[in-house]
Amino acid sequence: MTETLPFWKRKTLAGMTRAEWESLCDGCGRCCLNKLREEDGPNGEPGRLHWTDVACRLLDTHSCRCSDYENRKATVPDCVKLTARKLEKIDWLPPSCAYRLVAEGKDLYWWHPLVSGDPETVHLAGASVQDKAVSERKAGALEDHIVTWPGRLPPRSARPRAPRKEPA
Ligand code: SF4
Ligand code: SF4
Repeated sequence: MTETLPFWKRKTLAGMTRAEWESLCDGCGRCCLNKLREEDGPNGEPGRLHWTDVACRLLDTHSCRCSDYENRKATVPDCVKLTARKLEKIDWLPPSCAYRLVAEGKDLYWWHPLVSGDPETVHLAGASVQDKAVSERKAGALEDHIVTWPGRLPPRSARPRAPRKEPA
């Protein structure tokens, strides 16, 4: 019975193969945006997170892909390679991120390429940073680029209704 479920519904993140893990990334590019963190609170609670629309210097802001993924650490040493263990501690993944959704026991949205079969739907749904982000090579001060949209679900999260057939 469970064998018919897709892998992200029947496997834990830690139990996925490398290929399954990599395919879980929807290519939205939101995690490649710079974030600002306020100082920790008096009891050590983590400071509030602010998103910016400023993308990492290696992100192609149209395709939303890393332009040098294999060698990215040479240019961006603090790029975080996600693992199941790290996910338990990370609090900055966007609510639309497939890794976060699966970790929280939720299903993927219709626009995820694994569901739609089309890598373009993540852009069509407004889930990606496509043409909404500016490269840090050009942006200037991060404080001038604080935005809230990366921390929210995209406006077109709901599955679009099939067009209604008009009576003949
Ligand atoms: S936010 Fe999640 S799904 Fe989107 S690019 Fe980053 S890791 Fe992939
Ligand atoms: S180095 Fe690549 S994967 Fe890492 S944050 Fe930058 S664009 Fe994203």
